[in-house]
Amino acid sequence: MKNFGSSFIKNFTISEAEKLFRDLDEKPYRATQLFAWLYGKNCDSFDDMSNFSKDLRNYLNQNFILNPLVCEQKLVSEMDGTEKYLFKTVDDHYIESVLIKNEESDSGRLTICISSQIGCQMGCTFCSTAKIPFIRNLEAAEIIDQICQVRRISGLNNNNIVFMGMGEPFMNYDNVIKAANIMNYSFGLHISVRKITISTCGILPRINQFIDEGHLFNLAVSLNDTDTNKRSETMPVNKKWPIEDVAALFNKKMPKAHNRLTLEYVMRKDNISRDDAVRLKKMFKYSRIKLNLIPLNGEGTPSENDISSFIKELEILNIPITVRKSLGRDINGACGQLSGQKYR
Ligand code: SAH
Repeated sequence: MKNFGSSFIKNFTISEAEKLFRDLDEKPYRATQLFAWLYGKNCDSFDDMSNFSKDLRNYLNQNFILNPLVCEQKLVSEMDGTEKYLFKTVDDHYIESVLIKNEESDSGRLTICISSQIGCQMGCTFCSTAKIPFIRNLEAAEIIDQICQVRRISGLNNNNIVFMGMGEPFMNYDNVIKAANIMNYSFGLHISVRKITISTCGILPRINQFIDEGHLFNLAVSLNDTDTNKRSETMPVNKKWPIEDVAALFNKKMPKAHNRLTLEYVMRKDNISRDDAVRLKKMFKYSRIKLNLIPLNGEGTPSENDISSFIKELEILNIPITVRKSLGRDINGACGQLSGQKYR
C-alpha cells in the first residue's frame, strides 16, 4: 500500500497537529482551530479556514488531503428512508456507509453504520462483504470522514455510530481505536462514548486488549450461532477463537469493566431453534448485556412465526431484546451489498 496516510489531515490527533504547527513556526493553538474547522464546522476546504494566513492555507493545500473519500453514489430506500453512501478512496477502491433513520432502539436517534476495512478476511458465509476481495485496512481519517461526509450530505448531525459496515474492526484495531477517540474527543466530533459501538465477530486477543485498556465505547459481538461446530461453519473465526472462549472472557472480565455488551444475532432458518435459545441462555453471564436480533438480509430469512417462537424462548433470559427490522432492502442495505456490486 502506498503511504498516503501521512497526507490525510484527519489522521492527526490534536497533539500531532500541535507538533505540525510548531514545526511550521505557528502557534500550537492552531491545532484546536484546525479541529474546529474539520469537525465542529465540518469544513471541506482548507481555503475556507479564514483564521489561517494565506501562506498557511497554501501549505496545507499542497501537503495534505482534507477529504480522503469522495461520495460516488447515494441511494435512499423508498421503503424506510435508509440512506446508503458509496465512497471512493484515493486509491480507487469503494467502501460504504449507511444512515439508518428509524432505529427503534436508543430513542429514535439516527445511526451511521461505518466501514473499517476495504473488503474483509473473516469469510462469514452469510455476509456480502466476505465476497469482496480484501484490499486493505482503512486509515483513521477514512473511518472518520465517512461520518463527516454523511453528515454534510444528509444535513443530519445527531448520530449514533456503529462499526457494522464493511470489515472487521478488530483486525484494524489501532486505526479503529484512534478514529473512535477522535470521534469522542471534545475538540473532535464530540460524540459520547455511549453512542459509539464497535462490533466484532470475536477476535479474542483484541477483545482482551480492549477491556484491559479500559476503553468505554460499547462493544458488540456477532454471535449468530450458539452451537460451536455450526458457528465454525458459518463464521470461520470460530475455529481459531471459539465462542465459548469469548464468552468465558466476558464472564470473567466484563463485570469489572464498564462497557455495555450487545450480542448481535442474525436469524436464519437454521439457527433459531429451542436448543439455540437454551444454549444462548447458558453462555453469557453478564448483567449489562442486551440481545439484538436481526433477520438475515438475503436468502434464508426465517418466517415471522418462527422468529416469534424464538423470542418467546429467549424471554426467560430477562435481558433487553430488540428485534431489528431489516432496513433498506430495496437498496441492498446489508453490509457489503452495494460496493459488492461494484466489484462483481
Ligand atoms: N465484522 C464485524 C462488523 C461488520 S458485520 C462483525 O462481525 O460484527 C456487522 C453486523 O452485520 C454483524 O452482526 C453481522 O453478523 C451482520 N450481518 C452480516 N451479514 C448480514 C446479513 N446478510 N443480514 C443481516 N445481518 C448481517
